[in-house]
Amino acid sequence: MSPGSQRVFAKLKLRSINLLTLKLRGFPGGLEIPFHVFVGRASKPRVLLIAGVHGDEYESVAVLHDIASEINPNDLGGTLTIVPVANPQAFYAGTRRNPVDLGDLNRSFPGNPEGTTSERVADLLFQNLVLASDGVLSMHCWSKEATVVPYVEYSVDRTEVGRRSFAAARALGLKFLHPYTWHPGLLVAAATRYGIPSIEPEVGGMGTVTPDGQRIYRSIIYRFLQHWKLLEPSAPCTDALHPDPEIIDHSDCLSNHAGLFRSCVNVGDVVKKGSLLGTVHDLTGRCIEQARASRAGTVGILRTFASVQPGDRLAQLFWRIQRHPAR
Ligand SMILES: [Zn+2]
Repeated sequence: MSPGSQRVFAKLKLRSINLLTLKLRGFPGGLEIPFHVFVGRASKPRVLLIAGVHGDEYESVAVLHDIASEINPNDLGGTLTIVPVANPQAFYAGTRRNPVDLGDLNRSFPGNPEGTTSERVADLLFQNLVLASDGVLSMHCWSKEATVVPYVEYSVDRTEVGRRSFAAARALGLKFLHPYTWHPGLLVAAATRYGIPSIEPEVGGMGTVTPDGQRIYRSIIYRFLQHWKLLEPSAPCTDALHPDPEIIDHSDCLSNHAGLFRSCVNVGDVVKKGSLLGTVHDLTGRCIEQARASRAGTVGILRTFASVQPGDRLAQLFWRIQRHPAR
C-alpha cells in the first residue's frame, strides 16, 4: 500500500462503516472529497466504486448515494470504498472539466502533488484510494450533451491485468464491451498500469437521473461486487445477463459546420451504411449538412444538445469486431 492508503485503511475495523474525507490542502476555500469505506468480514479484497470524475454525469452519483445507504458490512467478504463525487468543483459547476483550471480529471491520472488543481485532485485520489484497491469500477455517464447505450470499456492490454479487467467487464452482463487504447491519463488507464484490474462503464447521459439508468447501474454494481466475491451470488440483481454480448469498436460522426442539429435516429437504433443520422441547419433553417452512417452499426452515442460547432460529435456507431484479439 502507498503511505496515503495506509493512513486511510490501516486502522479501520472489520465489520465497520466509515464516512471519511480526503482534503486537498493549501487550496483557497479548501477542497474536500467525502467517501465511504465499508469493511466487511475480511479486509480484502478491496474494491473501489468511483463516480463524478466528470462534473456533468449524475446517474452514477445517484446510484452510489443509494448503494452507500443500504450496504451492510456483515454481508461483505472484503472492503468496499465508494466515492460518489470525485471532482466536487466540476460537480458544483455542472461541467465536465474542473472550472478552476479547465482540466479534465479523467486525463490527469495518476496525478501530480505539485501540479495543476486537476493533477492534485488526481494524485489525492490515486495515492489514497486507487492504489489501495484490488479492482476499480470507474463509473461514467458520457456527458450532458449526449445519451449513450450502456456499454463498458476495458483495456486492450493482453497481459494478466488486461485479462482480469476483461473478465470483470464481461461479468457486468452488458450487451456492448469495448476494448480501448485509452489516453494514459484516464483513471482506469493509470490504475491498469499499476496492475489493478479496472473498467469504465458508460450509462445514461444528458445530465439526468432516470429510473432506467438507476436500474442498469445498480445491476452493474451488484454484478461487479459479486465478481470480486464481495457479495454472494444471491445478492439482489435486477437485470439478466445479456445472452449475446458483442465486442465492439466505434466510428464517430462529427459535424463539419456550426448550426442546429436535428437527429433522425434514436440511440440504440441499428442503421445501415449511408443511413441518415441527422441534419445540421443554418440560422435560416437551410440544411447545410447531412450526417450519414459511415458503416452499418448501432447508434451507440447520440448528441442531444442541438447547438453544434465544427468538430462536435453528432453520433458514434458501435460495430461488432468479428475477430477479437485472443485472450
Ligand atoms: Zn465521463
